[in-house]
Amino acid sequence: MTEKPRIWLSSPHMGGQEQKFVQEAFDTNWVAPLGPNVNDFEKDLERYSGVSHAAALTSGTAAIHLALILLGVERGDEVLVSSFTFSGSINPILYQNAIPIMVDSEPDTWNLCPDSLEEAIKDRIGKGKKPKALVLVHLYGMPAKLKEILSICNQYGIPIIEDAAEALGSSYQGKKLGGFGDFGIYSFNGNKIITTSGGGALLSNNERWIEKSRFLATQARDQAPHYQHSEIGYNYRMSNIVAGIGRGQMLVLDEWVQKRRNVNRFYRQILREIPGVTFLTEPSDQYFSNYWLTTITIDEKETGIDREKVRLGLMDQNIESRPLWKPMHKQPVFESYPYYGNHFSEQLFETGLCLPSGSNLTEAELERVKNTLTTIFEI
Ligand SMILES: *Cc1c(COP(=O)(O)O)cnc(C)c1O
Repeated sequence: MTEKPRIWLSSPHMGGQEQKFVQEAFDTNWVAPLGPNVNDFEKDLERYSGVSHAAALTSGTAAIHLALILLGVERGDEVLVSSFTFSGSINPILYQNAIPIMVDSEPDTWNLCPDSLEEAIKDRIGKGKKPKALVLVHLYGMPAKLKEILSICNQYGIPIIEDAAEALGSSYQGKKLGGFGDFGIYSFNGNKIITTSGGGALLSNNERWIEKSRFLATQARDQAPHYQHSEIGYNYRMSNIVAGIGRGQMLVLDEWVQKRRNVNRFYRQILREIPGVTFLTEPSDQYFSNYWLTTITIDEKETGIDREKVRLGLMDQNIESRPLWKPMHKQPVFESYPYYGNHFSEQLFETGLCLPSGSNLTEAELERVKNTLTTIFEI
């Protein structure tokens, strides 16, 4: 029996114009870090996000790292972070030798719980240290409860780094995510909604910060004919080749968002009648998700099958699916750091599954996933 071709969770989807921009870079010999594609990709990002300044970098993780540095986070400082996330949100806090204070999620958006956030802030202040920043994650493309969270952070004077790595194209109250915090970050890793093969961006309305981030990202070279340094620098700048891919991807971003949303609707139609299957859903018309990944939870008591049975059933048909993120406060490397919340994300990790969600899924592939799910759930 020949194996059926693999159906991926989320694979790169080129729009067709990417190679033209890469070719331009070759034709003009801008095969370098920096160049016209980088400048234009940054302008594309500024225009799209509505944030005035963007720096194209090697990764989303690098963008978070630079944001922390620009906010003055140093050894021993405390930084609040969503616990239900990918490790790229939290690792840069440790690069600064700072202390991550992990805060759990609430059930409506699966993102940071405002009540737990306020509890954490009060408790940390009571213990003698006000957190220096919050890394706020919009997971799977779903906007967090921004109104409540912004109000709390304003009240206590805590700057926000919006981790919109998975949420490019999502918006809240009609405004694009990445533009609410003091900083926003995007990722263009291979599995994200658009990709440059690997890359990221740092955004802010504060021009000085973004200029400084470009300086730090190119080894912090002072103005001088020789190499002169008075600060620690990093090699975090996006290359002109990679940015060419990004320029091509920006041309199709809105279309890809629509396709992901269509995939999400497709799964809802298949699974809507199954009691015990719950979708991560926009809580109101204030929330617009790019539905980067379609995510469900499976209540074994109601469905009679657990998450692993569904995952393995899909794997049998060579269809990739994945448990939801394992929360950071349950990761061996972070579990000794402070945590606040009601452990909701642990339940998500136990029962949750990400379904194949690429914008490049064909009708035949979706049909294969549908037939497999129909068999597993005995619909
Ligand atoms: C992908 C991702 C990152 C890191 O982005 P990279 O470009 O892979 O470094 C950070 N946070 C979240 C939530 C992500 O999904």
